[in-house]
Amino acid sequence: MSRIFNFSAGPATLPLAVLEKVQAELLNYQGTGMGVMEMSHRDKPFMDIANACEADLREVLGVPANYKVLFMQGGATAQFGIVPQNLLRGKTSADFVLTGDWGKKAIKEIGKYGKGNVAATAEAEKFTHIPDVAGWKLNSDAAYVHITTNETIHGVQFRDVPNTNGVPLVADASSDIACRPLDISKFGLIYAGAQKNIGPAGLTIVIVREDLIGTVLPGTFGIHDYKQVAENESMLNTPSTFSWYVCGLVFQWMKAEGGLAKIGERNERKAKALYDYIDSQDFYKNPVARKDRSIMNVPFTLPNPDVNDAEFLKGAKAAGLNGLKGHRAVGGMRASIYNAMPEAGVAALIDYMQYFAKTR
Ligand code: PMP
Repeated sequence: MSRIFNFSAGPATLPLAVLEKVQAELLNYQGTGMGVMEMSHRDKPFMDIANACEADLREVLGVPANYKVLFMQGGATAQFGIVPQNLLRGKTSADFVLTGDWGKKAIKEIGKYGKGNVAATAEAEKFTHIPDVAGWKLNSDAAYVHITTNETIHGVQFRDVPNTNGVPLVADASSDIACRPLDISKFGLIYAGAQKNIGPAGLTIVIVREDLIGTVLPGTFGIHDYKQVAENESMLNTPSTFSWYVCGLVFQWMKAEGGLAKIGERNERKAKALYDYIDSQDFYKNPVARKDRSIMNVPFTLPNPDVNDAEFLKGAKAAGLNGLKGHRAVGGMRASIYNAMPEAGVAALIDYMQYFAKTR
């Protein structure tokens, strides 16, 4: 069976080289006589896998030494609650910049522990741009400022890291972590579910500045206390071992691909090709302000959604292009073009889009 181009928003396509390595090692990992899925997380072969994954993650992302890297579970959704439990640190509120539905979900969870102030929102414009930083209403006594670096549903992405006047910046980077070089030192905390750019579902990466951890709200589970998780090297309980292993292979792949500089260039080329095509004609439309367009998720609409969407998707599937249905919240189509989507996949999508527009 030949592989398709999978444009799913996540879980998403993984590098073929990684999948082949997993396949080769599935039954017998490096002469141990067992697969990684079957190993104790306390035994040396898995400890080596876990340590190498963290070292490679730190190298690829350029994580400064004063940041902890945590391998947690529960996805970004659990972090919506775990972040305030750990980062309110005696304060009563945090600021949120809402650029899409995920930010809205995050602010809802802080309500159980404190106040989430909306410092800026683009909801009135259906999240088609990022509100100008100069107009954000930031509070100097907020515990942190929360942004969603890439809104997966709306296809809106921060290009620059905003200045928050010394208040720690917290980012949900689930759908654009490792998509290009990023200065981690500008953030207090970054969290991301693994299942888009980093590996299979099941693992949540948290990168947090050391001085921010150690004060949790009463009632916080130990497993959600960043300090305890860090002190126990993310093995307070049984971690998501197989996902951790595959993520490690993805970081090795990123290094072999030339690191985030090269990966970022490729992502920019892929996104530019697709947006250039969309902007060159009238059949497909993308509503997002050009400067705020995501290089990871590209939503687009067709002239008559009732007729065209299903027809488009049917033809796309027949052409080996999957996962293009837009999120139910916005409808239309969405092409997720994460790190592992080859340029050939984007070229095939554009070919099909041209063909569909011409023949229907
Ligand atoms: N934040 C963003 C930006 C996302 O794209 C997603 C998932 N699509 C989530 C949060 C929720 O992640 P999870 O399913 O890992 O909880």
